[in-house]
Amino acid sequence: MTGINISRRRLIELGRATASFTLAAAAIPGPVLAQTGGRPGARGRPMPANVSLPSRPTRPRPGSVGYAIVGLGDYALKQMMPRFDRSQRSHIAALVSGNPEKLARVGDAYGVPEDARYSYEQYDRIAADRRIEAVYIVLPTGLHADFAVRAFAAGKHVLCEKPMALTSADCERMIAAARRADRKLMIAYRVHFEPHNIEAMALMQRRAVGNIRFVRTEQLSRTDPSSTPSENWRISRTLAGGGPLEDYGIYGLQSALYLTGEMPESITATAFRPANDPRFTEVFASVASQLRFPSGAVAQLATSYDAHGSNIAHVLGDTGALIMDPATSYEGHEMRLEGRERRSFSLGDPTVQFAGQLDHLSDAIRDGAAIRTPGEMGLRDVRLMEAIYAAAESGRAVRLDPDGQMRR
Ligand code: NAD
Repeated sequence: MTGINISRRRLIELGRATASFTLAAAAIPGPVLAQTGGRPGARGRPMPANVSLPSRPTRPRPGSVGYAIVGLGDYALKQMMPRFDRSQRSHIAALVSGNPEKLARVGDAYGVPEDARYSYEQYDRIAADRRIEAVYIVLPTGLHADFAVRAFAAGKHVLCEKPMALTSADCERMIAAARRADRKLMIAYRVHFEPHNIEAMALMQRRAVGNIRFVRTEQLSRTDPSSTPSENWRISRTLAGGGPLEDYGIYGLQSALYLTGEMPESITATAFRPANDPRFTEVFASVASQLRFPSGAVAQLATSYDAHGSNIAHVLGDTGALIMDPATSYEGHEMRLEGRERRSFSLGDPTVQFAGQLDHLSDAIRDGAAIRTPGEMGLRDVRLMEAIYAAAESGRAVRLDPDGQMRR
């Protein structure tokens, strides 16, 4: 793999191509972005392909929490919105979108009243809408922080998609806004509500593989070779940071932490961006990192937008191994133990994770229950991704404090 050092001429080209970046930002994707100014705006996009809308709306359960869905993209329309049906305490109360035609179609299908359908420009008006108690932000990552802070200013609770934001400074801004407003902030880390991952955490806590020596995770996919940053936000620096690590590799990072139950004390990494590939003018193609934990365990994380698909987590201990493949997908999980304990797990329907996370926030809002995946967890992970990029850039190990901050 080539390192991330790139020539001054290339920096200048990148700086020209993306007017909102300084040259320094072009050299180090991700963590420095929002500090360079040039924040992106929200804009309407067409209806994604292959969306099936409900044939008739469901009635909200009495006393359930009303959510405004912000961003009617692929994940909202295909995964999360259909799952409100299965939640006990959550319903769709409002929609926010930049595409009026899509807003009307989706609003009609889900039975959202016309006066509860907002454009991005009208977003702050949700403050006066008592039907909305919480906002679910399903926008490109570079927009999460601003929309969350404005939701808190409007007095709403926030469920924010992963990754929480592009920089730890933005995460801190979101946490401070939640505290000021005395509202809940949850990061939508759905796997914490998925039966195989929950069981895996319990297995590792009771040392089902003995002492953990290694964790290996892969989150790999291949972005369409004809994609460009102007039409695919996932490869646009201002909206996606460094690319695959924030979007997909974050699952491997999360797995390494909840399976070991530890925070890393040092990180080494490498990041690769091929020349002359229109997909990777602004983001990395691949990031590989190695995390060392205080127990001596080591996690090796690979993530890419340019590799054959893979989604695995393997934990190798001194008496056995846990194999999860796929590990963090929407469904179809497979998990087995090898070694001293040999067994396969069949733990029911993984898709309960979607409604599970909605009802978890609603429980916290209604009953004051503690949030399993709070803003502080999102901040922790963004700090670790910043450390991964810093290690890749310097070519040296980055040492960390227990809260994930880089040691100066
Ligand atoms: P998408 O491109 O399908 O949808 C993005 C939505 O944001 C669209 O409705 C689009 O109109 C809107 N948008 C507003 N401003 C935009 C802009 N400037 N550029 C592009 N779109 C803009 O993306 P998605 O896959 O639905 O992802 C949305 C969020 O959900 C991201 O934060 C992503 O990380 C997260 N996500 C989470 C999971 C998960 O498993 N938890 C899976 C997929 C996506």
